[in-house]
Amino acid sequence: MLNVDISSLGPCLFRSPLHQIGSVQVPYKTEADRILYTNSVQGLQGENGTLSFEEAGPREQIFFDPPRTTVGIVTCGGLCPGLNDIIRGIVNQCYRQYGITRVYGFRYGYEGLVQRYGHTPIMLRPESVSQIHNFGGTILGSSRGQQPIGDMVDTLEDMSVDILFVIGGDGTLRGASEIAKEIARRGLRKAIVGIPKTIDNDIMYLDKSFGFETAFAEAVNAVKCAYTEACGAVNGIGLLKLMGRDSGFIACYAALAGSNVDFVLIPEVSFAMEGTTGLLEALRYRLAKRGSAVIVVAEGAGQELFQADGATDASGNKRYGDIGLHLKDQINAFFKARRMEVNLKYIDPSYIVRSVPANPQDNVYCSRLAQSAVHAAMAGKTSMLVGRWHNSFVHLPLDMVTHGRRKVDPHSELWHAVLESTGQPAMMT
Ligand code: ATP
Ligand code: MG
Repeated sequence: MLNVDISSLGPCLFRSPLHQIGSVQVPYKTEADRILYTNSVQGLQGENGTLSFEEAGPREQIFFDPPRTTVGIVTCGGLCPGLNDIIRGIVNQCYRQYGITRVYGFRYGYEGLVQRYGHTPIMLRPESVSQIHNFGGTILGSSRGQQPIGDMVDTLEDMSVDILFVIGGDGTLRGASEIAKEIARRGLRKAIVGIPKTIDNDIMYLDKSFGFETAFAEAVNAVKCAYTEACGAVNGIGLLKLMGRDSGFIACYAALAGSNVDFVLIPEVSFAMEGTTGLLEALRYRLAKRGSAVIVVAEGAGQELFQADGATDASGNKRYGDIGLHLKDQINAFFKARRMEVNLKYIDPSYIVRSVPANPQDNVYCSRLAQSAVHAAMAGKTSMLVGRWHNSFVHLPLDMVTHGRRKVDPHSELWHAVLESTGQPAMMT
C-alpha cells in the first residue's frame, strides 16, 4: 500500500490567527479529515480500499508563530498558465490571513537560492502582486539546471526562511524533496511545501494540475486555426504540435473539444509512418474521402521513429526529436513521390499556449491551491504538496507523487472517445 503519511516539523503550539467572519466559523480541519483514494465500490474491496489522503485546510493550532515567520517562494521549470496566480495567492494568504510580513520571491528558479548567481530575492507584498494574475509567465522568472542542495539550504538558513513554497514540475519537486531531506539532516525546522506544475496534466494522484484548462482551451483555438487552414486549400493538411512530453492529455482533450481532428498522435500509442496500415496511407485515404485533414501530435509522440542521441537539457531531461517537423517532411515527401498535390500547414503554438494568463477557472483553482499550501505549511507540514483529489484539496507526500507519471491509458474510455471522435484507425502499425 502507498505511504500517504505527511511529515510534520513538530507539535503545533500557536493558536491560528484566522478568525470567524460574522457568524461564519473558520472551517478548521483535523488530521482525521481524510479523502478516500478510491471512489468506486470495486475499489473499496481492492488493495487500496482503505487508503485515504489528509484533507487540506486551516488548522486551529499551528506550528509557526506568524509575526516571527519568514516565507520564500520559488518557481522552476517551463512556464505554465497560473504561476502568477499561485504567487499572488500565497502572498495574500500570508499577509492577509496570517499576518506574516516577510515573503521573499526567489528569482529564476533554484538559481535564485544559490548566492553565487547574484539574483537578489524580492520582497513580495499584496500591493505588488495585486495585478500579476492578469499576466502569463512568472514574475519571479524560472530556470532549469540542477543546483547544489547544500547551497540552497545555506541560503534558507542565512535568510532565516522558515517556509519555502516550491512551484514546479516533477524535476522541481524531486529537488524540493532533496532540500527537505537536507533540512532534516541538519536538524532544522523549515517547511517545504510544493505546488505541482505541469501543463501536461501528468501528475499522479491529482484530478488535474493548474493551468491545464487554460492551456487546452488555448490549444483548441490552435486546432480551429489548423482546421481553417486545412479547409482552405486543395488536399489541405493542418498539422498541429501540442505539448505532452510523456502524456497526451492536451492533445486528446483538444481533439475532443473541437471534433474537427482526424488524427491524434500521443506518446502512449506508438504508430508507424510506412506500410499499408501506417499513418501515411491512412492520411491518403482520409484526404481522398474528405479533401482535407487535421493532425494533432503531442511533442513526445513517435519518439521511436528517431535514433536516440542521448542529448539532454540543462536539467538532465532527455531531449526529444521534433516529431512535428519530422511528420511535415515525411508527409510532404510521401505525397510528392506519388505526384499528389497536398498543402500542409504546420503550426507549433507551444510557447503561446504556455505563456497565456490563466482563465477564470484556473484563477480560482490556483487561489485555492495557494491557500491550502499556506495552511499546510503554517501547521508545520513539510516534504509534501497540495493537490485536488475527488474535488477536495488534499496533502500528498512529495516522494509519492514524483515516482511515476499519469498517462493516457490506451484501453481507457478517454482514448476510446478520441478514436470515436477522430475516426482514425485504432492501430497504425
Ligand atoms: P517542467 O514541467 O517544465 O519539466 P520541471 O520542474 O520538471 O518542470 P526541470 O527543468 O526538469 O523542470 O527541473 C526544474 C529544476 O529542478 C531544475 O533546476 C532541476 O535541475 C531541478 N531538479 C530536477 N531533478 C532534481 C533532483 N533529483 N535533485 C535536485 N534538483 C533537481
Ligand atoms: Mg519536468
